[in-house]
Amino acid sequence: MSPKSIAIIGAGFAGISAGIYGQMNGYTTQVFELHNLPGGLCASWKRKGYTIDGCIHWLVGSSPANSIFTFWQEVGLLKDRQFVDHEIFMVVEDEQGRAFNMYVNPDRLEKHMLELAPQDAGAIRELTDGIRLCKKMGQPAFKGGLAGLLQKAGFFAGMLSVIPQMKKWTNLSLGDLGNHFQDPLLRKSIKDSLFPDMAALGLVMTLAFLDSKTAGYPLGGSMPLAQAIEKRYLDLGGTIHYSSPVEKILVEDNRAVGVRLKDGSEHRADVVISAADGHATIFKMLEGRYVNDTIRGYYDNMLIFPGLVFVGLGVNRSFADETQSVSGVKYALKTPIVIGGKSHEILSAHLYNFDPTLAPEGKSVLTIMFDSDYNYWKTLAADPAAYQAEKHAVSEAVLDGLEQRWPGIGSQVEMIDVATPLTFERYTGNWQGSFEGWMITPKALMMKMDNTLPGLQNFYMAGQWVQPGGGLPGGVMSGRRAITDICKKDKVKFHTTKI
Ligand SMILES: Cc1cc2nc3c(=O)[nH]c(=O)nc-3n(C[C@H](O)[C@H](O)[C@H](O)COP(=O)(O)OP(=O)(O)OC[C@H]3O[C@@H](n4cnc5c(N)ncnc54)[C@H](O)[C@@H]3O)c2cc1C
Repeated sequence: MSPKSIAIIGAGFAGISAGIYGQMNGYTTQVFELHNLPGGLCASWKRKGYTIDGCIHWLVGSSPANSIFTFWQEVGLLKDRQFVDHEIFMVVEDEQGRAFNMYVNPDRLEKHMLELAPQDAGAIRELTDGIRLCKKMGQPAFKGGLAGLLQKAGFFAGMLSVIPQMKKWTNLSLGDLGNHFQDPLLRKSIKDSLFPDMAALGLVMTLAFLDSKTAGYPLGGSMPLAQAIEKRYLDLGGTIHYSSPVEKILVEDNRAVGVRLKDGSEHRADVVISAADGHATIFKMLEGRYVNDTIRGYYDNMLIFPGLVFVGLGVNRSFADETQSVSGVKYALKTPIVIGGKSHEILSAHLYNFDPTLAPEGKSVLTIMFDSDYNYWKTLAADPAAYQAEKHAVSEAVLDGLEQRWPGIGSQVEMIDVATPLTFERYTGNWQGSFEGWMITPKALMMKMDNTLPGLQNFYMAGQWVQPGGGLPGGVMSGRRAITDICKKDKVKFHTTKI
């Protein structure tokens, strides 16, 4: 039998991973990507000698302490990669100058929080016990042979005992968890540590991974990661067509048979995988012909990770005197600033004072993210001059906010770059500029979405729109899942190789 061909839409982590696993299993794959670069949302860009990183804060599975490590070996991400393991998740400072260091180690965190707010002892122990519990749950990459079997048996026996206690963390949101604290600094820090609607498991699990040194920051940032998986795919014989936006998925007799690009060219394939935006795939490329109430319900009702105003700055300053942390310093502003029509009382500055590769010597990159309403920017963009003026106003507001924490910094800023939800949409096609797909609320956390559409054969989806919570691990796992499913249907024994 001649090998089957697969057309893959999107060269983000999910699309390239699907290509990698497809090539490993004897399929002939081609990826069609709208942009001229690999990586999708896992992106960085250069401005005036600085590299602005638009994605990676932590990579789950950066060491064998987590099973995702194996997937990274398969897609070739780890070779020659160096990770930074931080001891602090973020620093939060309030109006009175009190500072809360969110240590990743539960013992250190507990001690520090008890010093700050002894009246919150109960809530503090609840949080730190949750991190300890998640540390027990973190599934390692198992060794091979007898040692691996024993390791597996021990792990699953241990897990059975903690599963009932985990329920609480999946059912509780971060907003709810924050309300368990009386101290305003701690309450706000917990609520806003990620997103108030997110399941609290998102925070405790992340801190557990960070403390287990398996969620490191890869030196060099996002683009080298994207380039590494692109190389792995090309080395396995795959093909990527850049600047090739797909407009339609070709369907005959309710079977996907290929793709039509914006330039009108058609590319036939036995199977199509869309690893592009879910909404565009279902409602545009397939014209909404293969949906049911469940799928419509997702797009009508579920919360998504918001669009962002994302500001990157190049600063002639080392920030060597500032704490190094995963997410930087979040501080209360004396005077609120307005970003995208919304007033902000807090500014969260992500200082890259731990990655010298992103800036010239002695200088640093700093990024700042604000949740921002997609429709606000969409409406504004009808008037290009007004849209540009608003972007300029964002730069001014951010500089004002930075001056409040670092007086005089304005004269050290050598570069400032503003992206809006429309920028994210333009470069990656993501619905409403969302930066990570479906929000992992307590409800979404337990969801397993189908990676096929009702009534359509030879078609699969991969990526953050079929894997609630998104993230780079979710991308790779969903690409792998699509190929596993195709292999199963074709009665091909799924296999992988590692580098
Ligand atoms: C600021 C920020 C911080 C983040 N931090 C982290 C982190 O610390 N750790 C982590 O694991 N994850 C993080 N993420 C999330 C992570 O980047 C995403 O969840 C992940 O990259 C999604 O991968 P994907 O392949 O599913 O989708 P995407 O990356 O969106 O890839 C989809 C691809 O499809 C292409 N495409 C779309 N439409 C078409 C079309 N019509 N034709 C052809 N191609 C098309 C797009 O151009 C894109 O390349 C972060 C994201 C952002 C923005």
